[in-house]
Amino acid sequence: TSKIAEIDASKLVVHLADPTLREVPDEATACSGLETICTDHMVTCAWTAASGWAAPEVKPYGPLSLMPTASVLHYATECFEGLKCYRGFDGKLRLFRPDLNANRMLMSTLRISLPGFNPKELEKLIATLVALDGPKWLPRSRPGSYLYLRPAIIGTHPQLGVQAPRQALLFITASFMPRMDAPVGGMKLHTSPEDMVRAWVGGFGYAKVGANYGPSLLATQEAKARGFGQILWLYGPQGECTEAGASNFFVVWKAKDTGKIQLVTAPLDDRLILDGVTRRSIVELAKDRLAGEVEVVERKYTIDEVLEADSEGRLVEAFAAGTAYFVCPVSLIHHRGKDVEIPMGKKGDSGEYTAQIKTWLMDIMYGREQHKWGMVI
Ligand code: PMP
Repeated sequence: TSKIAEIDASKLVVHLADPTLREVPDEATACSGLETICTDHMVTCAWTAASGWAAPEVKPYGPLSLMPTASVLHYATECFEGLKCYRGFDGKLRLFRPDLNANRMLMSTLRISLPGFNPKELEKLIATLVALDGPKWLPRSRPGSYLYLRPAIIGTHPQLGVQAPRQALLFITASFMPRMDAPVGGMKLHTSPEDMVRAWVGGFGYAKVGANYGPSLLATQEAKARGFGQILWLYGPQGECTEAGASNFFVVWKAKDTGKIQLVTAPLDDRLILDGVTRRSIVELAKDRLAGEVEVVERKYTIDEVLEADSEGRLVEAFAAGTAYFVCPVSLIHHRGKDVEIPMGKKGDSGEYTAQIKTWLMDIMYGREQHKWGMVI
């Protein structure tokens, strides 16, 4: 029997682009068009059930070639990741906890019968792309800037019929991505429509599969047209708060029984929500650095509890957290015809805990604090 190959980053085949062909736009210009601007190169790695993973390749960024019968186009055999590479204030390039993204991608891929891989090798391929394109696209003259990295795996097997694909492709791009963490006056959330859920117990809400995102756009579009930033997805007859768009959601309130300050977020155990890297990092940092002052609580909580905290004056602040939205203050939740206004701190731009957490994370990402979560490239 022939050997089924693993992904092996050391076998990388490199086809370099001519770097003089494209100039790096400034961040604002790069994010203002209708198309995502990617860097000079991308990484690809093909897989077949018969031989496993081929040698990974670096090549000039450009279109993929797929048969119209490719599995991904019909059966949503796709999963992806999102992480950033940061240009630090110390001049270094860093990834933030890329091991968590690589592990999560493995979990997602297995959930939809795409091939497994060694997450360490994916991490190395991500680092390779950053090492190649980072110096040009994140110039040292722009500390505090970042590139968005998008690894994905798709089923390319060109055969109709609902079955696990026997051919797949992994690819990684690096691109610009607009900053979404500081809308003036905070982000406004609209709770999900009564007849829609994003994820359900026994489903796949915990996996970063494309199938979770397309169907969420209908509610999001409508909310955006009415001036809201994202949907706050509720679940079940009690209206449990789960996630805010493509980010996790946190509330800070004074506990009803003890009056203690609590940082509350939905739990992972029902597998409804994504195990966000930002969420996890906030939970860990707050447990460590706010110990004694703030209780960190991962539990089910309902929109009615948020409404009650508001009416009793116990609501302190709220924020969305994720790679794209980073730590984004939430100033209002609209639920079934009612507005809940959320305090936004003394200056009106962010609650104090939200700002503190954001600063801690930024300091690690941009090298103001040397921390094991920041992986220098
Ligand atoms: N929830 C969902 C549904 C998401 O798509 C994301 C973005 N990956 C998040 C939460 C936040 O996860 P992370 O902090 O890893 O970006």
